[in-house]
Amino acid sequence: MTNKPRLGVFSVTGCFGCQLTLAFVEDILLELLDKFEIAAFPMLKQENSYENLDIAIIEGSACRQEEIEELKKIRNNSKIVVALGACANSGSVQSIIEVSDKKQVMETVYNKKYKQYNPVEVGGIDKHIKVDFHIYGCPPDKEDLLLFIKQLLAGNIKPKQVDYNVCVECRAKANPCLLQEGKFCVGALTHGGCNALCPTNGHYCFGCHGYWEDSNVEALTELFKEYGFDKQLKNILAKFDCTSKQIKQIVK
Ligand code: SF4
Ligand code: SF4
Ligand code: SF4
Repeated sequence: MTNKPRLGVFSVTGCFGCQLTLAFVEDILLELLDKFEIAAFPMLKQENSYENLDIAIIEGSACRQEEIEELKKIRNNSKIVVALGACANSGSVQSIIEVSDKKQVMETVYNKKYKQYNPVEVGGIDKHIKVDFHIYGCPPDKEDLLLFIKQLLAGNIKPKQVDYNVCVECRAKANPCLLQEGKFCVGALTHGGCNALCPTNGHYCFGCHGYWEDSNVEALTELFKEYGFDKQLKNILAKFDCTSKQIKQIVK
């Protein structure tokens, strides 16, 4: 063990895409490796430790009781915990089980002949442990990670204050509104902070930053119905955030 602050990167159920993005912030990764002792980072090293962590960055969501125990172990050994990416913040694809027939989902994924497990309530990791900072996206934006690591290196983490939806950023960029053109987009229901990445590049927002809690869900659901987008809305929202009450009502 060295005198450097100890950083651990951990994964519960997810696709490892967040870790991969973190591993590719190459502009600053070497500095990070130099200033911190990397206690855990399964994508980069084989031996990983949970002990005496100054900061733990977690991707994925807990889908089994063992993973909840693992999250608690990480929390109990860490001064600061960061939820990285859509899975860790809102459950992502795994949370579909919350609005589906659980038995049917398990049989579809694992097949009847395989040993199945009892799923736990799937959602963001803050369902199970206290989270100090959130970095959104699927995968998270490299610039957001770069900013976060720079702040981490400077010992002064100041999360981006985002209290608006994707539409605010989209309008600020003077993008034409896809919805007004009769096209699909869930930016109005989605937590901002990505600088309206998708609509700026001609693609609809599909909600990877999670549900924006101040959304006028009823009015927006009516609007999507008028446009004939109800089915698409359900399918898209089910991919990223089935954990909030409002989204459950739309998706079920
Ligand atoms: S948030 Fe996206 S990129 Fe990250 S682990 Fe989940 S599915 Fe993969
Ligand atoms: S294109 Fe999408 S994100 Fe942009 S203003 Fe319209 S609904 Fe909002
Ligand atoms: S526009 Fe929507 S889907 Fe695209 S990065 Fe931003 S939040 Fe994610």
